[in-house]
Amino acid sequence: MKAAIYPGSFDPVTFGHIDIIKRAATIFDTLIVSVLNNERKSSLFSVDERVKLLREVTKDIPNVEIDSFDGLLVDYAAKKDVHVVVRGLRAITDFEYELQNAQTNRLLSKGELDTMFLTTSLEYAYLSSSAVKEIARFGGDISACVPKYEEQIIIDKLNSLK
Ligand code: ADP
Repeated sequence: MKAAIYPGSFDPVTFGHIDIIKRAATIFDTLIVSVLNNERKSSLFSVDERVKLLREVTKDIPNVEIDSFDGLLVDYAAKKDVHVVVRGLRAITDFEYELQNAQTNRLLSKGELDTMFLTTSLEYAYLSSSAVKEIARFGGDISACVPKYEEQIIIDKLNSLK
């Protein structure tokens, strides 16, 4: 059984993430999509809320599991006995950060943890969770960015913070 972990903030999950999830799920027997609980990064949704959103929007993909983790990805992957990380690349600007992370993870894991990159589908190249929050904050239409199920949840969350 070949498994991979797709880690990220997913704050909130977008069509860009879902595209990577669907494609990775055809490559691996099991894909664990895991929300990083990073207390240094302020987020709109709590980890539990992000897990719930991910569960809902991936419920039709049978080999996808949703989880969350704290601390180092290499430790989490070792605990799960998984040796591949999936990440998405949108543009050259993602590359330097992703390359550094991938190399650090290889080093820390003594070569046990490798990273596989999937390039974004062109229609989602512009899409990021930050853009979704920015558009929704100003009352813009986010229907091209996130599944219908999420739209009102995002709007309500932003309104609750006003
Ligand atoms: P992080 O804070 O870990 O970068 P994100 O939720 O922003 O978490 O992204 C998780 C992963 O998904 C990253 O590898 C990112 O490059 C990728 N990703 C985000 N949006 C897209 C998109 N529109 N197309 C392809 N990959 C994406």
